[in-house]
Formats: sequence, structure tokens, C-alpha cells
Amino acid sequence: MNPAIVTRFAPSPTGYLHVGGARTALFNYLFARQQGGLFRLRIEDTDRERSSEEMTRQIFDSLEWLGLEWDGEVVFQGARADIHRQVAYRLLEEGKAFRCFCTREEIERKRQEAQKRKETYRYDGTCRRLSPEQIQEKLKAGLPYSLRFIVPEGITSWEDEVYGHIEVPNAEYGDFIIVRSDGSPVYLLAVVVDDHEMGITHVIRGADHISNTARQIMLYRALGWSVPRFAHLPLILGPDKRRLSKRHGATSVDEFRRMGVLPEALFNYLALLGWSPGDDREIFSKEELIQAFSLQRISKQNAVFDEKKLFWINSEYISARSAEELFPEVTRRWVEAGYITEKEVPLRRGYLLRVIELLKSRMHVLQEYVTYGIYYFRDPVQFDPKGVKKHLKDPQVWQRLELVLERLEKLKDFQQDAIEQEIRQLAEELGISAAKLIHPIRLAITGMSVSPGLFEVMEVLGKETVIRRLREFLNKKEQFSGE
Ligand code: GLU
Repeated sequence: MNPAIVTRFAPSPTGYLHVGGARTALFNYLFARQQGGLFRLRIEDTDRERSSEEMTRQIFDSLEWLGLEWDGEVVFQGARADIHRQVAYRLLEEGKAFRCFCTREEIERKRQEAQKRKETYRYDGTCRRLSPEQIQEKLKAGLPYSLRFIVPEGITSWEDEVYGHIEVPNAEYGDFIIVRSDGSPVYLLAVVVDDHEMGITHVIRGADHISNTARQIMLYRALGWSVPRFAHLPLILGPDKRRLSKRHGATSVDEFRRMGVLPEALFNYLALLGWSPGDDREIFSKEELIQAFSLQRISKQNAVFDEKKLFWINSEYISARSAEELFPEVTRRWVEAGYITEKEVPLRRGYLLRVIELLKSRMHVLQEYVTYGIYYFRDPVQFDPKGVKKHLKDPQVWQRLELVLERLEKLKDFQQDAIEQEIRQLAEELGISAAKLIHPIRLAITGMSVSPGLFEVMEVLGKETVIRRLREFLNKKEQFSGE
């Protein structure tokens, strides 16, 4: 352990954990673990109206599922308002903040005037200039006030671990509010106080927070606290290069979990979202990522969220798992889809394991076990229209399927090799390629134009099912004619 390094993830519980938040958490986690430091969690629930306990639970759940275990107790920012206020009053006593009695209306009016002049509004210092007597008078009259921090003159700069040297003239900012007139501390202050008290050494967060950093550094300095290192992470964009949002599809960790993305796969993919190992490796275990990670290799370029790549990585992880390991998750999905009952799961274990194994190398997400696995539980009622068009065009196909049925009925040993031999033999006798039989048979017994190797599928389904489905299909001949 090297508690000299402490990072944190500080989500606001106003929604599900989305991939941007998860990526931030992940980078904080990887850096802390690699350095033997601590990774802390703070829930920034100061916005009472938008925060909810339900979302807080969801965030815990998603982080745990992803394998981002945090150290120590969770800190709830909302419960610490008194501490934040105390710090603000300390600044007031030290002459680094002042009471501002300006009303919302006055500020709004000045803001609009500035807008008319096409200027950026900055607090004009009205209350900073009040005399002690004037202040006493207003306090006696019971006027509400906010606390504003006195922005010092000069320039604030920092060496960002990702973006390098950044500097901002302090004059960019007017004296900003640290405690509102209703007594609530503002975010800028709360984060500084909490990061200081939690001993955070590295603030790793989205680049959308760069605009807060200079003011936070001013607060650290005014309070005489050491300033942590900052690493701002590039934004995550959708394929259209606009900021990733719901309109791009699934964006929350929970949605990917429900689709059947494996936690190791999402972990692996998120690590590559703005970071690269410097070589072309793409599949990493958690341990390998902890080893390889470095802040220096985080890119300044915005990262594009590529769902296809995530699904490719996921398919690699699915393939690498054994059918036994996939069993609980996949059978749960089949039960939910109504393909089997919960009671049947242990009774049909052997069959289910075989199906899981058979489909494994083709699945991008576990939910595809439902879409592409249906015919292991139900006789097909729908047939892929493209397959119908292509493989039933030849009028001879029906006669050939009659022959297939006849041969298979006679087959005693319904094993894939025997089935294959029989079908190939028949094709030869008919003077056609085996494919001319295989495609229509697949369509007839699975309803689909693609499947794992047909002969193995037939063996797994069993003779009875295969014969029944072929017969049913032949009965539908009229239905397909003219297609
Ligand atoms: N609560 C802030 C957010 O969810 C993060 C604050 C920070 O990381 O400094 O964006």
C-alpha cells in the first residue's frame, strides 16, 4: 500500500452510471491500484432534487458488477454541508470572502445588461466595497446574503497530467459564490473541502471539469492546502463525433449488463477509451491493465465510443468462458424469455450446456442466446425471408427434402457424422452439391439462414425434432410457393 496516492470517483447520483462515468471511475481505479494507493468513492448528492437513493444504489451496483471495488467508507457530500460552510466562514474571517447582499433580481438585471453590451457578466464587486457599518446594518435588517470568494489578481496555472500546462487569467472570473443565500455550499467549494479531507492526491475526471479547476486551485491556495495533481480525461463522443448521449443508443453500464456484456469485457473496453498501451494489444485482463496503465498514455484526443468494438471484445470474452461458466447467466435469460421453466434448468442441464457451447463462438452479447437460440426450444414458425427467397427458389427443392426426410427416418444412429454421410451421399446420388441440401434443411429446422454446423445442430436437436420439423416444413410447401 502506498497511501501517498489517493484517487476518487465522485459521481452525482442523478442518473444511472453511464459509460463516461464508468470510464472515469475505471481510470481512477487503475491508477490507484497500480500505485498501490487508495481508490475512494464519494457520492455528490448535494442537489437534493435531482439526486436519489435509488440512483446511489444503482451506482454502487454497477461499480461492484464492473469489479471497481473502492477503499474505505463511501463519503456522502450532502451530509457534509456544515463542514463546507465552516470552511467558507473561515475564508470570510480571514478576509478572503465577503457577504453579498445583492438580490437575484439585481444580479439578473446586470447580467442582462452585460448581455446587451455583448459582454460576459462578472460579479461587479458591489458588496465587496461595503463598509463594516453598512454590513452591520444589512445584517441587523435581516437581509439574506451569500458568501463570495475574493478572486485574487494574477494567473492560475497547473500542469495537467493529460493536457499539460494550462493557465487562466484570474480576471476571467468574478468573485464567485461559495455559499448560497439559502445556506447551501456550492459544488466548487464542496469538492475542494472533501478532496482535501479525504487526502486526495490525484483528481482524475472528465475534461468538462477543466473550467472548474482554476477556481478550485484558488480555493486550495486561499485555504493554505496543498493542491492535488489534476488529470482531465478526453470527452467521449458518439460515432457522429457529437458528445455521447442517449440518442446514440445504450450508454449506461446497466443497459450493457442487461444486454449481456460481460463485466470483464466492459472493463477491458472502457480502459481503451482514451488510453492505449502503446502497442496493438486489445484484450487485457484486469491484472494486465493495472500493470500497463499510466496517466502519460491517456490521449488528449476525444475518444469515440465504438459499440461494435465493445461487442467484438465481448465476443472474445464469451468464447473464452466455458459453457459451465456461462450456464447461470444464459439459462436465466432463457427462463425470462419463456423458453424453459426454472424447474427444467437442472433437469435438462446436459442439453442446455451443449447448446451454450454450440453457439458460444457466435455470440456478441449474451442476449443473442435468446435471439439465435430460440430453435433449440421451439419449432420455427417464421423463416428468414432472405433464406426463403434464396434457397427455396428451385422447385426441385421440395422433392429433395422429401428424400432427405425418408433417409433420415431410416437412420438409426443419429450422430453428426452419420447424418453428414447420409446427406452427402444423397447429394452425390442426385448429382448436386451438398450445399443445395444443407441450406434448405437449415431453413426448415431452424428458421434461420445461419447457424452453427448443421450436422451438429441436428444431432443436438435429436431425430424426433428434426423429423417433425422437416415434415411440418414440407406441409407448408403451398405457403411458400410464389415466394
Ligand atoms: N460530481 C461531479 C460529476 O459527477 C464530479 C466532480 C469531480 O470529479 O470533481 O461530474
